[in-house]
Amino acid sequence: MSLLATRKKISEPVKGPVDDRPALLLAWYDRHRRRLPWRALPGEHADPYRVWLSEIMLQQTTVKAVGPYFEKFVARWPDVGAMGRAGLDDVLRMWAGLGYYSRARNLHACAVTVLREHGGVFPDSEDGLRALPGIGPYTAAAIAAIAFDRRTMPVDGNIERVVSRLFAVEDALPQAKPRIRELAATLLGPSRAGDSAQALMDLGSSICTPKKPVCSLCPFNDDCAARARGDQETFPRKAPKKIGALRRGAAFVVTRGDELLVRTREAKGLLGGMTEVPNSDWLAEQDDEAALAQAPAFKAVSRWHRKVGVVTHVFTHFPLELVVYTASVAARTRAPAGMRWVPIATLRDEALPNVMRKVIAHGLGGDSIRRS
Ligand code: SF4
Repeated sequence: MSLLATRKKISEPVKGPVDDRPALLLAWYDRHRRRLPWRALPGEHADPYRVWLSEIMLQQTTVKAVGPYFEKFVARWPDVGAMGRAGLDDVLRMWAGLGYYSRARNLHACAVTVLREHGGVFPDSEDGLRALPGIGPYTAAAIAAIAFDRRTMPVDGNIERVVSRLFAVEDALPQAKPRIRELAATLLGPSRAGDSAQALMDLGSSICTPKKPVCSLCPFNDDCAARARGDQETFPRKAPKKIGALRRGAAFVVTRGDELLVRTREAKGLLGGMTEVPNSDWLAEQDDEAALAQAPAFKAVSRWHRKVGVVTHVFTHFPLELVVYTASVAARTRAPAGMRWVPIATLRDEALPNVMRKVIAHGLGGDSIRRS
């Protein structure tokens, strides 16, 4: 067969009666499934450990970014018991660079719980999985379906998009979520729930993409309500974002030779568990003097240098504006309580959120003005 003929065969959509969507979906999956390091091959049983690890890693991260981390983790800890016996610091070190360190903490806590309370065997029901640290409703459903073939449909962003288009769901997210979950469940057949879920995930990531979905290759192309109307890209409907009031604050970039002063944020809340330079409260009614008064206490620092300009960042719920102050202290100056020095050269290994990357870039370069 020529290469051209082979390509044509691969790209043909799966056709069939539109009233059997679950069967259409599985037939498409059997021909076009992605090969992923954590995914079982056809006919094999999925390993709950690999499914769990990949689902936790994939939260807020791409398949491409996760691949090397996944390989590294399973080489080091081939099963959940091995990870449960490891130290938290080892897990955090291996996680470095993947971001959102609270996930790594929960990962370790979950492995310890499975080892100590379940004899190293994952519970096989959604409820049992939900009771474990770091496993929410989506992850529990994904593991239950993929690893234990429980008849349930996990609904992630990809699946939300496919389903909202297929059925032209007019309600806006997030209110539409329960309706989308109900409709997604209608795509489950009598068996192979895990394959149905993975089929929808693959369809959403490769065919029913946010922009320019390739409907001609989709198994639902004869049956899709949004495609019939020609407005696929407008789904899922989203409620307009409510942006809160501008908050303001100050951040302090303190160097000791080639090192930078940092601290770790509280595990819970915005940017939980991530690394930051010391900074003030972020308030709508913030004034410069009050923010500067929250600078870390160093006897050696009598003057802070205020950098020209401000760092701006937009979080989901509010925009932020930070004034950046800098200081350098003598060698062997001790870090204030709860803070630590890290070499600037290894900052890339720290769990720094984007806003802090901007602050550090601003603080370590450019002009500054003196401020007492
Ligand atoms: S037909 Fe197009 S819009 Fe509809 S589900 Fe398939 S890819 Fe998405």
